[in-house]
Amino acid sequence: MQKLWNILKSMLVPSVLLLVAHCLVVYGFLDNFSIQSLNYFVISIFLMSLVLCAWFGKSRYFFIFLLCLAVYLFRYYFFNLLYGMNQQMAQAVFSVLIFLNLLVFSLIKERGIFSFWGRIRFLFLFLQGVGWWLFLTYSSFFNGLYEQYMQTQFYLNFPYLQITLATLGMVLFLLLSLRTDYHYTSFIGFLIAPLLPLFYDNQLQAWIVFYSTIAIIGLTQVIMDLYSLAYLDELTGLAGRRALRQDTMKLSGAYTIAMLDIDFFKKVNDTYGHDVGDQVLKFVSGIAKKVTGGGKPYRYGGEEFTLVFPGKKKNEVIPHLEALRKSIGERPFVIRAKNRSGQKPEEIKKKRKGDALKINVTVSIGVADNVQKNVTPQDVIKEADRALYKAKKTGRNRVCV
Ligand code: GH3
Ligand code: MG
Ligand code: MG
Repeated sequence: MQKLWNILKSMLVPSVLLLVAHCLVVYGFLDNFSIQSLNYFVISIFLMSLVLCAWFGKSRYFFIFLLCLAVYLFRYYFFNLLYGMNQQMAQAVFSVLIFLNLLVFSLIKERGIFSFWGRIRFLFLFLQGVGWWLFLTYSSFFNGLYEQYMQTQFYLNFPYLQITLATLGMVLFLLLSLRTDYHYTSFIGFLIAPLLPLFYDNQLQAWIVFYSTIAIIGLTQVIMDLYSLAYLDELTGLAGRRALRQDTMKLSGAYTIAMLDIDFFKKVNDTYGHDVGDQVLKFVSGIAKKVTGGGKPYRYGGEEFTLVFPGKKKNEVIPHLEALRKSIGERPFVIRAKNRSGQKPEEIKKKRKGDALKINVTVSIGVADNVQKNVTPQDVIKEADRALYKAKKTGRNRVCV
């Protein structure tokens, strides 16, 4: 459910942008601008995006931007080369090529731009350029082929092919988002936007608008990626230490901070291996995300988490923390056989058949608030740490003040 919500949320920005683009084209809002100035606008957004991606090593986006820029420039400056061709065929080939390229570049791994892998990607694009040039040079040959074999295939006619491709891409990325991470949805906009100008009679203005939209969708995505790189913890998806520092600076009035530490976590690592340890961290953070009472969890570092409750005193927060502690302790954590890497093979074999191994994870929590005047959030965190130490000393699996 949470995943579906995240997917819908991440599709919101591209959808709104595409809708705005549609209105701009249909209602002629851009008619006052000259095509030339709009052209420079698109090219500059693409160039800015390319520089940003190159600077931060975002190779996937870099190649998508490069591809879209190349396609756009072709449409703007060399469209007349297509005049000798069968328009249906040219459009079909163009759409399929863009679609396949976007698909490839969305799915490949981040492997650098100027690395060996990056150069292979440049080569891949270059060879397609050569292919496209050959296609244009021998247009009469391809026209003949098309008229002889393909013309009767109704699905090659606009817009069936385009709609099929866009739908396929959407379904694929939605499935991928559900199975892996929802960032794949951001590529849906990339798949759809380039096909859209074709629905607006291929007008140059529609091309300019939809290609700017691609650039803007991509740019927001890159910025959001960079944001999560800086502020979110990769393993648990929780906000990290930097976000904690920034958010606590904004606090005013009463607030409570709790420090949460997993009990005997080292033992989990030693017995079942580091991978299971990581799974336990995800398990605990998953429950901490659902903490009630208006608290926000952060990963402080290692197996320690911080919970911040703005506008609350510690007595109001304690029942929520007790509920969180109980909910972690009572829910068994299931270790699947393939994850038990720290165990000896015979031990794993013995347990493999059907019986998932269950362990119970408990946490200790220390709480403090800012009721005394003139304390900084750092002081409150220190105080909560002292309370946590007390919780550990007095037997763990408890909340202390
Ligand atoms: P206590 O009940 O006193 O808190 O005991 P503990 O074993 O939980 O505490 P200790 O601080 O001795 O151990 C923390 C361990 O957490 C040590 C470190 O190997 C492990 N750890 C820290 N970060 C990670 C991580 O990201 N993944 C995994 N798997 N282990 C981590
Ligand atoms: Mg610790
Ligand atoms: Mg611990």
